[in-house]
Amino acid sequence: MRRISIFGATGSIGESTFDLLMRQGGPAAFQTVALTGGRNVVRLAEMACALRAEVAVTAHDDGLPALRAALAGSGIAAAAGRTALLEAADRPADWIMSAIVGAAGLEPGFRALRHGTTLALANKESLVTAGPLLMAEAARHGARILPVDSEHSAIFQALVGEDLAAVERIVLTASGGALRDWPLERLARATLAEALAHPNWSMGQRITIDSASMFNKALEVIETREYFGVSPAQIEVIIHPESIIHSMVGYRDGAIMAHLGAADMRHAIGYALNWPERADLPVARLDFAALGRLTFRAPDDARYPALRIAREVMEVHGLAGAAFNAAKEIALDHFIGGGIGFADMAGVVEETLAALSRGNGLGNAPSCLEDVLAMDECARDCAGRAVQSLASRRFG
Ligand code: NAD
Ligand code: MG
Repeated sequence: MRRISIFGATGSIGESTFDLLMRQGGPAAFQTVALTGGRNVVRLAEMACALRAEVAVTAHDDGLPALRAALAGSGIAAAAGRTALLEAADRPADWIMSAIVGAAGLEPGFRALRHGTTLALANKESLVTAGPLLMAEAARHGARILPVDSEHSAIFQALVGEDLAAVERIVLTASGGALRDWPLERLARATLAEALAHPNWSMGQRITIDSASMFNKALEVIETREYFGVSPAQIEVIIHPESIIHSMVGYRDGAIMAHLGAADMRHAIGYALNWPERADLPVARLDFAALGRLTFRAPDDARYPALRIAREVMEVHGLAGAAFNAAKEIALDHFIGGGIGFADMAGVVEETLAALSRGNGLGNAPSCLEDVLAMDECARDCAGRAVQSLASRRFG
């Protein structure tokens, strides 16, 4: 039986992964090693019981008593805190879903690679912050990384049987997010609820806001470069409001291979779970006559500064991805907390990168994970200061 773990089991991707595992036989078909989550320990325990996991881990130290209580009598071990999370990643497994949100997902996935596991990677932040290290670690241990982000799963599938050297361009599609049709001058006043009203996809809160700002697409452009090894100039972004085409690969002969499907993450997750085979998946089938048409438009630079920033980050490379992601996470925290406006997020990220580019080794290639984590911490401090100075400029 395949041994599997889910990091971030209680999130949007985690729940979809759990759904697929249960449909494909649950504990009769998979031996579940570890499930991890955050505050929602009751749901975590439920999932752990349903899959008969060996251990359930909450990321919060103070969540242990509640998790223990929820698991009472089940025979499933309970653990809590960052160290327990990393220990769970050290438990050998054949297939691990990396679906923690943010840079917090980097270390567990990185550690799991040491055991030669197959890492189904939803946590795009891992590649953005530490792409070259992660890919090298996988190669060193004969581990495989399978992309789960829908765009990257689409590209991966469009590349099957093809030669990477024949790739001319990669076209990432973007829905444009919740605010794509808003007049520009209204964007600055967009509220949390408005940014969360995604037209097509149902996802976690953070990635949904990142879709509205296109920071999500900015991360995905970098993710594409790191995972597929193409040059930044080969990567394009196009707004495709219907989210039917999940991305495309263009070859040197002009042919384009596109991946189409319903906007349901269970496709990309199921592909990674069953790879290299295809299994029946519970996703809606496309009805082209009902769809009628698919439309496209170029992203507007003024509306989506994140895309321009991503280009600058790729040019610097080195530790710039780690700084970019950390600054974005802090800016997002403060937008969610009501401290800054929607359009301020890009300003905070830019200010952070500008401050760090002055003698902080932003362009240095990290030699180990600690270098990445140090830059992450430094950028968080710096972004925090940028938020404060913004607030003091605004409110005196
Ligand atoms: P989510 O917020 O719904 O779930 C996140 C999970 O991580 C939860 O289980 C939460 O408890 C856990 N978590 C949060 N912070 C943590 C921390 N500091 N330490 C340990 N665990 C922590 O997120 P999501 O939407 O499922 O996204 C997960 C990842 O997948 C993200 O990297 C996201 O960018 C990526 N992704 C998501 C989707 C989607 O459809 N939701 C699509 C593509 C990629
Ligand atoms: Mg995506």
